[in-house]
Amino acid sequence: MSIAPPPINNETIWLTEDRPDAGELGLCVHCGFCLNACPTYHDLGVETDSPRGRIALMRGLDNGRIEWSPRVQQHFDQCLQCRACETACPSKVPYGRLMEATRAEAFARNNWPRRQRLIWRLIMRGLFPYPRRMRLAGYGLKLYQRTGIQALVRKSGLLERLSPKLADLDVLSPVADRPFYANREAAEISASTPVRARASLITGCMMPLAYPETHRATVRVFARNGVAVDAPEAQVCCGALHAHGGDVEAARELARRNIDAITPEDGDLPNAILINAAGCGSHLKEYGHLLRNDSEYSERAAAFAARVRDVHEYLVEIGFNPPGGEIQRTVTYQDSCHLSHAQNVRSAPRDVLRSIPGLALSEMRTPDKCCGSAGIYSVVQSDISKRVLAEKMEDVLSTGAEQVCTANPGCMLQLDAGIAHYDDEGRMMPRSTHAIELLDESYRLGDAATNR
Ligand code: SF4
Ligand code: SF4
Repeated sequence: MSIAPPPINNETIWLTEDRPDAGELGLCVHCGFCLNACPTYHDLGVETDSPRGRIALMRGLDNGRIEWSPRVQQHFDQCLQCRACETACPSKVPYGRLMEATRAEAFARNNWPRRQRLIWRLIMRGLFPYPRRMRLAGYGLKLYQRTGIQALVRKSGLLERLSPKLADLDVLSPVADRPFYANREAAEISASTPVRARASLITGCMMPLAYPETHRATVRVFARNGVAVDAPEAQVCCGALHAHGGDVEAARELARRNIDAITPEDGDLPNAILINAAGCGSHLKEYGHLLRNDSEYSERAAAFAARVRDVHEYLVEIGFNPPGGEIQRTVTYQDSCHLSHAQNVRSAPRDVLRSIPGLALSEMRTPDKCCGSAGIYSVVQSDISKRVLAEKMEDVLSTGAEQVCTANPGCMLQLDAGIAHYDDEGRMMPRSTHAIELLDESYRLGDAATNR
């Protein structure tokens, strides 16, 4: 008979209410079906960097068998939060939720290195929640790129010498060569639409600067399908990066501001909340859970979350008009983790792509395996991220595709960095795309052919 050691001090184990739920932790039956799906287990080869091992660590903390230590936290930090383990798990362990709760606890303990805390405060709290400041930063990036300073800095190797993390950030920075997206554009494009539904577009913090054409394409595509889209000015960053990093208080504040900002349902027509970024979409669908204990917002948060639709999901739901213009191209589709594993949206983006005349879809062996982007993971855990990307690129290049299509800005940046690094023969288009942009292009080519 074995005698379990006494718990360490059960009263002080969790500092916050956001602790992992003991009942949910108990769902794990240690079967190990999740192991093969886990990129960090595959890369690091140790149980404590697998889903099962991390859940065991959470349980150990919860029942006081182990203490919170930098080593334990490292295993949590090394998780990509890709949620491939959720798809693989027959017991339906809500791993993403458990890991977010664990990260919230780690954040509350304030035991990050000082420099990391300072950077978080400056960027995640001081920049991302403020659209005007983000825009200013975007103009700074434009200047840096257009004046040729970026090219010079890259050539000189200065950033690698100063800080490898800064150099990684530079490689992953978007190409800011398009006019930034302004929220008023949505209403302008939608003004002449015969309406069968309305929708509010969440434009996010980075997409208007890095991928403004994706937003323009989104609004045009929905206008063409009878959905008038507005993009309320008062909206802010959705808070996904904050929640993933454990800063749940900031995430909650951003959620409240978005709930206040978004046009309420008007009662006559369907009124979805649209999102074209998978990471943001999965977080927006969790607003109800995030604000479950907020007496003022809990009901509105749940109602908000129920209206959220990924753009591919919504196009298929409403039945989109088939496009007419040919795009002679072979693409491969990377399932963004937060679209496939977190939202279970897999067939809709492929339905969109397959509807485009001339377009061929060449599938990867493992299209739903993480690319290593994972929010800020590619910068804070850059070594693992680069190894995960290397594997992904082998898969991408083996398809023979000319372009990668995906559904999340972080994945697009990561895959573009992968193409620049691994596509030695220049077979692929240097920039990945979003299915909604290809659909928009096909509609427009069809119009041009008709008007010729
Ligand atoms: S979220 Fe991804 S990296 Fe983390 S344990 Fe699950 S499969 Fe592994
Ligand atoms: S598949 Fe699910 S139940 Fe099995 S070990 Fe992994 S998390 Fe636990």
